[in-house]
Amino acid sequence: MFVSCCECRTFVSLYNSFPNVELSGIHIKFLPGVGEKKAAVLEEELGIVSYEEMLYHIPYRYVDRSKIYRIAELNAKLPYIQVRARIRELHNVGTGKAARMTAIAYDDSGELELVWFKGLKYLKGQFEEGKEYLIFGQPSEFNRRLNIVHPETDLFEKAGHLLTGFQSLYPTTEKMKKSFLHSKAIGKIQDAIFRSINGKIPETLPAWFISRYQLMYLHDALYNVHFPSSPEALEKALFRLKFEELFYIQLNILKLKYKRKAFFKGCAFSTVGEYFNGFYSNYLPFPLTGAQKRVIREIRQDCGSGKQMNRLLQGDVGSGKTLVALMCMLMALDNHYQACLMAPTEILANQHFETIGRMLRGLGVTVALLTGSTKKKERAEIHRGLEEGSLQLIIGTHALLEDVVAFDNIGLVIIDEQHRFGVAQRAKLWHKNNIPPHVLVMTATPIPRTLAMTLYGDLDVSVIDELPPGRKPITTLHAMETKRKEVFRFMEEELKKGRQAYVVYPLISESEKMDFQNLEAGFQQITDYFSPQGFPVGMVHGKMKAADKDEEMRLFVTGETRILVATTVIEVGVNVPNASVMVVESAERFGLSQLHQLRGRVGRGADQSYCILMTSYKISNDSRKRIETMTSTNDGFEIAEADLKLRGPGDLEGTQQSGLSCNLKVAHLGKDGRILNEASRIAGEILNDDPELVKEEHSLLATQIKRIFKTKINWHFIS
Ligand code: ADP
Ligand code: MG
Repeated sequence: MFVSCCECRTFVSLYNSFPNVELSGIHIKFLPGVGEKKAAVLEEELGIVSYEEMLYHIPYRYVDRSKIYRIAELNAKLPYIQVRARIRELHNVGTGKAARMTAIAYDDSGELELVWFKGLKYLKGQFEEGKEYLIFGQPSEFNRRLNIVHPETDLFEKAGHLLTGFQSLYPTTEKMKKSFLHSKAIGKIQDAIFRSINGKIPETLPAWFISRYQLMYLHDALYNVHFPSSPEALEKALFRLKFEELFYIQLNILKLKYKRKAFFKGCAFSTVGEYFNGFYSNYLPFPLTGAQKRVIREIRQDCGSGKQMNRLLQGDVGSGKTLVALMCMLMALDNHYQACLMAPTEILANQHFETIGRMLRGLGVTVALLTGSTKKKERAEIHRGLEEGSLQLIIGTHALLEDVVAFDNIGLVIIDEQHRFGVAQRAKLWHKNNIPPHVLVMTATPIPRTLAMTLYGDLDVSVIDELPPGRKPITTLHAMETKRKEVFRFMEEELKKGRQAYVVYPLISESEKMDFQNLEAGFQQITDYFSPQGFPVGMVHGKMKAADKDEEMRLFVTGETRILVATTVIEVGVNVPNASVMVVESAERFGLSQLHQLRGRVGRGADQSYCILMTSYKISNDSRKRIETMTSTNDGFEIAEADLKLRGPGDLEGTQQSGLSCNLKVAHLGKDGRILNEASRIAGEILNDDPELVKEEHSLLATQIKRIFKTKINWHFIS
């Protein structure tokens, strides 16, 4: 889905460089008890090299080791817990891989099973039946019976030292465990760091700031995050670290925004003239929705201000962004500027060209299409037209980015489905004029507000939060693969009503070959079933030649083929209002936003539309939640929020490359929205007072920003 183009944005290096100079300089291998070998594993597995990186490897969970549960209170949903229980019936069972030792732990409230698969020889003599143990672990359910696999066990009379408050659990990997770097060992390393630096962790926020916002000092915060002295202290510690992390991101990004607004002139679209008005009164195909009107007004104000516009237009699939784009381009034309619309695929560029060309008929605008398939001669003509200024409006793909494409006077650049473009690519368009053109990037993937603030805090945002009237909400169903026959029958019903259908298969590079076979087998099966009934079937996938793809698309758009078997190449933007069924095969393999995008291909006409998500019988919990989210809501923002909560921004498509979330060490954009708002508000206040951070009391803030964001390239002015 979104924001993949932020590979070059500031966040890349975010907390690769940590806030603390002194601690980042000391190599972890020098720490007593670590040494070269373990240090190598830590670097390999977690990317941890310095003391500082280790200190920011914070626990993912805390267990309260002062609480002892009664066995009757346990259930498989509880995290790590401990019970005080006696042990009986120690048995070795099974052989080979299934070899294990089991025992029953019991207290006066009930009993549970303990299971060990490893260290059986050693374990054998460890227990005395009837004695009391402190048993610690995570309860799970097996054969409807509660058990704990590989519990930690200590004789109760000797376990007093374990019953003290919180224990931190650290993320580890198999490889780390093999090198004895399990959670407990990480705790010991943290402890050793604190001993060796002896209280000296330089503060990274100004003293006035800490006291004004009543934050914990950095040293105490880091200490309490690893070794909480109380739940309250832990909460304060986490708050301080999250707050600082989000605050510096906001301070940096808002500073850039202030700077852009202060220093960059833009082409002033001062008049609304004949093109805009003429179109509005004579050619508008339908009344604008309230949201479209509002967004056009926002853009008009921005472009008229004399400052360069840098705006993100968010609008769910089908919300009518194309029309908004067109009307903004007409504004540029009215002010004697050229405008361009760039789309990520030829299919989409073609479609835009057709729709827009149709709407502009009669208005006397010169418009052309430039893609990879444009013939040489025509291409040369287009290049000339753009350079001379005789061509007013250009729609195209990456072909627009080539250096040979020069404009007479480009005033507005619109980028559709912007997540498909890299920032560097967009920067190229920006440089195609003396005064930078206004930039409007459009995305159909709603971005949760917290993520937008963090990734796009420097952009202005417009949202189309209303669909054109008359759309029926799409009905989404989950079907097992075993029910394919029923699904076919359902498609048949819809086709008989004159509708069209998509069937989408995953095509994901790792297992490409098999995916491809599935796609072809699926195509065959569908053709065998539907062709004889007079429903022609087409197929598009990314491996086809552009011309063949376009032909297949054309056949589907015109209704000559009634079913389109496809990969996600159709995900972006394609508009066939007569299509009313979207079947997604192996839906468990798609991300939430991708599913939402695919679903958005139907429900574009007035008919009731359906999205059928097919999965195998056995799917993971996360996949199940994704499917449930899809069947329960059509709201793109809700889905984006769910995605963020479910996976964290690190896994959100597109953000992977940004490095953003992997680099967010402490805060979680799905959960810490309130802290982010607060951090953003305070950053804004400081910048209002001192946009360049030159005041004495802001010097530490300025230093920290430089340090944290040091390796970035300044792409920020581009959008
Ligand atoms: P997206 O925002 O996904 O790019 P499109 O611009 O492709 O959406 O619009 C989706 C469909 O809605 C198109 O068929 C378009 O003609 C139609 N549409 C756009 N605006 C309106 C409107 N104000 N009233 C009715 N239909 C509209
Ligand atoms: Mg679109």
